[in-house]
Amino acid sequence: MASNIINLSSVQKYLDNIDGSAFKLISIWCNNKENTSDEFFTQPLDCKITVVRSILNKLHYYGIVNYDKIKNENSGWFTFKWYMDYNKLSKLVFLGNADKLEKLKAKQKYYGQYQMFTCKRSCHDFPFEVAAEYNFNCPMCNDTLMHVDYVEKQKELQTQICAIEEENAILSLFLKETNKKQ
Ligand SMILES: [Zn+2]
Repeated sequence: MASNIINLSSVQKYLDNIDGSAFKLISIWCNNKENTSDEFFTQPLDCKITVVRSILNKLHYYGIVNYDKIKNENSGWFTFKWYMDYNKLSKLVFLGNADKLEKLKAKQKYYGQYQMFTCKRSCHDFPFEVAAEYNFNCPMCNDTLMHVDYVEKQKELQTQICAIEEENAILSLFLKETNKKQ
C-alpha cells in the first residue's frame, strides 16, 4: 500500500529535500488517490496555484509525478492531469538509502581502524593526526578534543544502519508488489 511507504522517515526526508511542502502535498494526495487536478491542493496546503504547480514541477523533474497535457479544442487552452508515481518514488528513496548504507558501513569500518577525537558538542570527528595538529582543541568551538568512545560510536552507527535497512526492506517489498500488478 502506498500509505505504508509515505510514512517512512526516509521517504519524508527525501521529499523534504525536494521541497518543504512536497511531503504534505503527497500525504494529502495519498488520501485522495483519484485526484488529477493541481487546483485541488490549494485549499489543504493554503497556498496559491502557482506554488502548487512549482512543487509539482519539482516532483516531475524527479519523475515522481507525471502529467497528461490536454488541449481544449474550443479555447485552445491546455489543462494538465497529474499522476503520482509511487513506484518511482520508492525506487529513488531505496537507491538513496542504499547509498547512505554504504557510507555508514564505510564509516563503521573507519572508526574500527582509527582512534577518533571530538569535543563535547560533537562538532566534528577528527583522526589522531588532525586532532594533534589542532593541539586537541576543537577548531569550531575551541573546546578540548577527547577520544571518541569506540563502543558507543559503533552502537550509534549500527542503530542508524538498522533503521535504514528496515525501511529499505519495506520499500523493496512495495516495489515487488507493485511490479507484480503491472
Ligand atoms: Zn567543537
